[in-house]
Amino acid sequence: MVTSQQLELLAPLSGVLMALENVPDPVFASRLIGDGLCIDPTSQVLCAPLAGVISNLQHTGHAVSITGDNGVQVLLHIGLDTVSLGGKGFTPLVEEGQQVTAGQALIEFDADFIALHARSLLTLMLVVSGESIAPRGLVSELVESGEPVLCVQLAQVEAEAVTEDLATAAQRSAPQDLPNANGLHARPAAVFAQAAKGFASSIHLHKQDESANAKSLIAIMALQTVHGDSVYLSAAGADADQALKVLSELLASGCGETVRAVTVEPSPVVTSEPVATDVLRGVCASPGSAFGHVVQLNERALHITEFASHAQTESDHLKQGLADANAALQMLCDNAAGKAQAEIFKAHQELLQDPGLLEQAYALIEQGKSAAFAWQSATQATSTLFKSLGSHLLAERALDLEDVGQRVLKLMLGVQDSALELPDHAILIAEQLTPSQTASLDTRKVAGFATVGGGATSHVAILARALGLPAMCAMSHQVLALANGTPVVLDADRAELLLNPAPERIQQLTLQRARQHERQQRDLQQAALAACTLDGRHVEVSANIASLAEAEQAVALGAQGVGLLRSEFLYLERNSAPSHEEQVSTYSAIARIVGAEHNLVVRTLDVGGDKPLAYVPMEHEANPFLGMRGIRLCLERPQLLREQFSAILASADLTRLHIMLPMVTQLSELRLARQLLEEQAQALGITTLPKLGIMIEVPAAALMADLFAPLVDFFSIGTNDLTQYTLAMDRDHPRLASQADSLHPAVLRLIATTVKAAHAHGKWVGVCGALASETLAVPVLLGLGVDELSVSVPLIPTIKARVRELDFSACQTLAQHVLGLESAEQVRAALQPLVQPMTALEY
Ligand code: PEP
Ligand code: MG
Repeated sequence: MVTSQQLELLAPLSGVLMALENVPDPVFASRLIGDGLCIDPTSQVLCAPLAGVISNLQHTGHAVSITGDNGVQVLLHIGLDTVSLGGKGFTPLVEEGQQVTAGQALIEFDADFIALHARSLLTLMLVVSGESIAPRGLVSELVESGEPVLCVQLAQVEAEAVTEDLATAAQRSAPQDLPNANGLHARPAAVFAQAAKGFASSIHLHKQDESANAKSLIAIMALQTVHGDSVYLSAAGADADQALKVLSELLASGCGETVRAVTVEPSPVVTSEPVATDVLRGVCASPGSAFGHVVQLNERALHITEFASHAQTESDHLKQGLADANAALQMLCDNAAGKAQAEIFKAHQELLQDPGLLEQAYALIEQGKSAAFAWQSATQATSTLFKSLGSHLLAERALDLEDVGQRVLKLMLGVQDSALELPDHAILIAEQLTPSQTASLDTRKVAGFATVGGGATSHVAILARALGLPAMCAMSHQVLALANGTPVVLDADRAELLLNPAPERIQQLTLQRARQHERQQRDLQQAALAACTLDGRHVEVSANIASLAEAEQAVALGAQGVGLLRSEFLYLERNSAPSHEEQVSTYSAIARIVGAEHNLVVRTLDVGGDKPLAYVPMEHEANPFLGMRGIRLCLERPQLLREQFSAILASADLTRLHIMLPMVTQLSELRLARQLLEEQAQALGITTLPKLGIMIEVPAAALMADLFAPLVDFFSIGTNDLTQYTLAMDRDHPRLASQADSLHPAVLRLIATTVKAAHAHGKWVGVCGALASETLAVPVLLGLGVDELSVSVPLIPTIKARVRELDFSACQTLAQHVLGLESAEQVRAALQPLVQPMTALEY
């Protein structure tokens, strides 16, 4: 049983309290780093809000972190943008690793100097270890240093785990030497901590007589391990055996070490043991298949000197590196294959101008560091922070940051990428590729790639699709042990890497690829034709879009409308809410492109889960996918929904407007949202309401579809979420990626239930999850009676063509057959042979 207890935090300063959302800095105000409070100080000594160990003291003395005995980590940050002061005005009174008592003086600072030379004196106290907090019920906004100001809710379970570890004899692994050239630094430490979190046992990593909680990135980094350190693991709990086995193997494999600068370079020799199995499985990141030879991409350390004697020269050097990188990115933008690709490089250009990064780097140069060292430290620190925040989006941003960081470093150090040395038909294998590396792959030589890291929704996957390169992610670490030159078939459609394939398989593949190419060309030419099966069943094929540009592209590729406008993506990069006028202009521009003849389905904000919106700050949640997501959040903040409804309604005359609510679970949510919509429509004098529908992405909604159906105009099935909630598998979990398959019969049965209920009430059903974009799934979805497939823009011609070659009654028989199968593998296996006789062409 999880009971909770509380920890009191004391005011680290005297001064005036301020809510975090009022801090004029979006990173703090949006609670990205952690929840807490802000004080406008009237005293000049920063004191410890809790007892604990100084887990980090910034060398510039402006920020300090304390880790309490119970694992709570508190960051104290004096002033805004004070890193640029380079330590001037701060006198640290403690050292890293020192034990401090609550109330103990930590840093003395010169308030006058800081007020004059930095942006602000506002001082932050943030809980960065994720616990929720509550204010202490203060009577005044004025606080005295040492006065209790916040309560942190502690999960008892942690304490029990520790006790258990101490009480029961923990099991130990054999000692092993760390293979990582730089010990367990940020990246391998993060990989290791993430893997450790997958076990219920309490786990510790030991180095000599020091130990760290294996689930804490900071604790592992604080062990300051180096290459060759002898370490061992201890674990106590039900899955201790398994944890020790898996984590020891992970340590031995280097925890996917990629911290240092990476250059794309074929490995000269591979010394690893040959891999026994002849098929390795992963997850499809970009469809297609290719035959080729393995080229392992390995890392090469850049030689970076730490110190330099002329700050001005170093500062100029950095400026030049940044300018060169900006020019290179501009060239990539100009030559990008599509809008999505160009936007990635634009985002990289913005990162080059990030004031926080630049401040950190220039401050280090002022302290005598070289330009390369300063830039590398600044980018690595920020990327480590992004990765530690538990947000999928920020973790992807960290990868972008590392990518940009390396681009600038290589330019400053005059290091060339050696991608041109690749042999023909290279199948690249890497722990991870960066977006830049992916975009600059020479597609005349590279036939495809497979990576251990990454997900099907990452930027790397988007780029691979834009380049038409078959790709797989979430491969097992075994793939890194394949010898260079091993012949392989990378079959991303089946998510398989076949090792040493027989000559007949290669021949078959070559033929198949030639046919695929021909077919793609033909599909494109026929993109404007309707999607009607051979026996006359019409299916609407529409587009999933997130921008005006995608709307334009979709129409050009033959989309019969927009089945899902993910409205939360329209303003993802903003720190403040868009005005009513901005929203109206975005929706109406899209509505005009879609036109009066077609449906435009606008989904209301689906914030929460893995999609934070900076201007909708949210409290930390232990399970955000099971928390305040989608319609739940909007109903909690009805003004947000009212404003969005009112902006969407302005497009009512421009298109066949549909409004769709995400994450609906309860009938009351639908009723409440409809009431708000009606009120907004009435206020605008609109008498005919647009069509209102809901996403079916929670199993409860699918199971209760017969009760929802009379109250809606349509359903659209979000198979991405429906799969994660039905199978209880996080959709972003790399180790579950191959199992979280939307073709699982349990998911298909929920689709069948939904369609039956909708049709009984004369309502249409679409599928807008990624399953609709899978050619293999089309006959099943048609056979289950789905009326609309809303798909990724580039796949519109393919999916339309796929529908045109199917026989609807055969699809119905097929659908009934697969509903009775046991697993997604069985469904996939059944689809391959059963589909072919129904198609006009072998696919
Ligand atoms: C889904 O869940 O299938 C869906 C379409 O919504 P999203 O992927 O945006 O969560
Ligand atoms: Mg969803």
